[in-house]
Amino acid sequence: MATEVVAPVFDEDVDIMADEIRLVKSKYAFFIDKGDGAYLVYSSLTGAIIAFKEISYIERLQDIMNTDEFIYDENDEILSLFKEKGILIDADTNEDMLVRLMYDENITKSKTLQLILFMTKQCNFRCAYCFQKQEDIKMEMDALQSIIKFVENQVVNNGYKQVKIDFFGGEPLLEYDSIVWFLKTLHETIATYNGVELISDMTTNAYLLSPDKFDTLFSLGCREYMITIDGTEEIHNRMRPLISEEGTWDVILSNIRYMMSTTFDFKIILRSNYNADVVETLPEFYRYISEQFNNDQRIVIFSANIFGHGNDSMLEIYNKSESDRIEAGIAKIIKELGLTSTSPMAMTLPCSRACHASKQNSYTFDCDGLIKKCAVMTDLKQNHIGTLGLNGEFKRNSNVYSKWVCSDYLTERKCKRCKLVPLCFGKKCPLPRVLFGELDCNPSDAEIAIVELLKAYY
Ligand code: SF4
Ligand code: SF4
Repeated sequence: MATEVVAPVFDEDVDIMADEIRLVKSKYAFFIDKGDGAYLVYSSLTGAIIAFKEISYIERLQDIMNTDEFIYDENDEILSLFKEKGILIDADTNEDMLVRLMYDENITKSKTLQLILFMTKQCNFRCAYCFQKQEDIKMEMDALQSIIKFVENQVVNNGYKQVKIDFFGGEPLLEYDSIVWFLKTLHETIATYNGVELISDMTTNAYLLSPDKFDTLFSLGCREYMITIDGTEEIHNRMRPLISEEGTWDVILSNIRYMMSTTFDFKIILRSNYNADVVETLPEFYRYISEQFNNDQRIVIFSANIFGHGNDSMLEIYNKSESDRIEAGIAKIIKELGLTSTSPMAMTLPCSRACHASKQNSYTFDCDGLIKKCAVMTDLKQNHIGTLGLNGEFKRNSNVYSKWVCSDYLTERKCKRCKLVPLCFGKKCPLPRVLFGELDCNPSDAEIAIVELLKAYY
């Protein structure tokens, strides 16, 4: 009897519950008090960033921050927004599975084949902090032919839909003719495979990037140029002179001016490597760039801490926490000037922080004929993952190779509770792990750095 009476009521309750959507906070959500009355809400799983400034919204936000569970109400503006942006998730969502899906789709099963080509070990500059040995070794034509066959094999066997070539060095434009031949031949080869796209970019000091060379490279699909200028003219010329010790500022700026005078769709990642001397001049330098190029969105600002003393032991360089603080300050200046910056994007978007060397779809071809992973420490024996046969076959040293690619957030103890897993999947710089068996990352410091960057930029 009691069951008969209660059951319909219970059934009705279940129906009502089925229409209700219960929401909880994502474990990848950050609620950040900016300290000036405003708040930021960020998800490392979706990359969403929402700024709260108005008091009425902030009061509602604070309610949400102090509540564990919510019933979804489409008329509640903030609940709806948070649901859409992945800050609040359906209570039955398994976020571990979502992260795993993202990892599989973007990292382990990526459809992009990424190659870094060291075109030469020689350079026309002698930068104060350069850690590379300048040698007269270059990528020979037979090596380039084997690389084209390697690309073909990879496209056929692994179904890659995009091939991305990064020209690197030394100064790659010292081998301009080889680059042009390589791009033309690879375009012809790839054209025989339906639906495969070839894109390329270049890390160059831009001294040799004359208007005619830029026009040709652009016509061959080279669309992104990482060009380094270390602050204002005087300090840049001191940090990045020619072999003859002459300054390089005027020629680089003249080449950039030509690039910016075109209507081409390309991007310059304008990099500044900073130590204490360079940092002092960066506000003035960024103001100059902002005025000269009217905040053209094709220039994207990037800054990086100098991490080695190169050939100048007098360089005053920053440790990791100092550089995190400086990056946040730089982000603020860039925002105030209305320039575009890679830093917040690079640091806060899902999948953006996994190093190429840790991925199975990435190979670095050195001009010594060896295939490597890390594009920085190229001379290390532990970085040599194999060689290439004349027909493009990859003769792999599986023992070395596996140490670079087979470690991730699932195997790394430090990543177990880290809220930044969707950004790097435990694949942030694999070098220390390969060399010393341990990931060099402190998750709390990494989270603090992201929070500080967001606070500075938004
Ligand atoms: S602990 Fe470090 S490497 Fe691991 S997920 Fe967090 S930030 Fe990435
Ligand atoms: S392994 Fe580390 S040093 Fe080498 S390219 Fe990746 S992040 Fe840079």
